[in-house]
Amino acid sequence: MKERIVQTAGREQLGEFAPMFAHLNDDVLFGEVWNDDVLDGKTKCIITVVSLMASGITDSSLLYHLQNARAHGVTRAEIAAVITHATMYVGWPRGWAVFRLAKDVWNETEPALTEKDRYQNSIFFPVGEKNPYGQFFTGQSYLAPVSAEQVPVFNVTFEPGCRNNWHIHHAAKGGGQMLICVGGRGFYQEWGREAVEMKPGDCVNIPEGVKHWHGAAQDTWFSHLAIEIPGENARVEWLEAVSDEEYAALR
Ligand code: MN
Repeated sequence: MKERIVQTAGREQLGEFAPMFAHLNDDVLFGEVWNDDVLDGKTKCIITVVSLMASGITDSSLLYHLQNARAHGVTRAEIAAVITHATMYVGWPRGWAVFRLAKDVWNETEPALTEKDRYQNSIFFPVGEKNPYGQFFTGQSYLAPVSAEQVPVFNVTFEPGCRNNWHIHHAAKGGGQMLICVGGRGFYQEWGREAVEMKPGDCVNIPEGVKHWHGAAQDTWFSHLAIEIPGENARVEWLEAVSDEEYAALR
């Protein structure tokens, strides 16, 4: 899905001094024109860079639009060709001025990957967004739908140390849950039993009505596909958190 551009620089910088200008900048220029989809974002970035260059504007607004161009996928070779091409029409000194800015923007080293990015690169399934059921978890977890039809399947990812509360998958008939580990290392534990280690490829079948929890090991990320087994009046009953003491005993 295309990400909608939201701009607040006008209101931040000129909201009090020039409210109409701020409105036109944020709501019309960025709100409507930049979000219009006849031209793709990358093309609009190139047009903007060339327009500013042609007007002789080589200040922070050009810098912003060069950064925006890079963020929209304009490569170093492409921006060099764009500036070179435009220079033939708008003049040599402007070409030099723009190249000085562009060189810095495209020479910046890539931002360092986060732990989440690095983990994502190690597994096939998406990590997804922060888990909306986070209140039933200790630590941070993420949820990504894999299948929304027939049999619902989600990829659930746990940061190191994260686990869900004790819970029960109830159903009047059928029901239960199946877990397939797809990344990292974690545990599954049924009430009154030893925890079972889960590594990629391991599968756990959880019958309806059994109290249990699942989550990451203390020092590793963990992902499992959660497959909800269809059942009559299926629901999840969330119970107490797994205590730090019981969890810390797991290796
Ligand atoms: Mn479960």
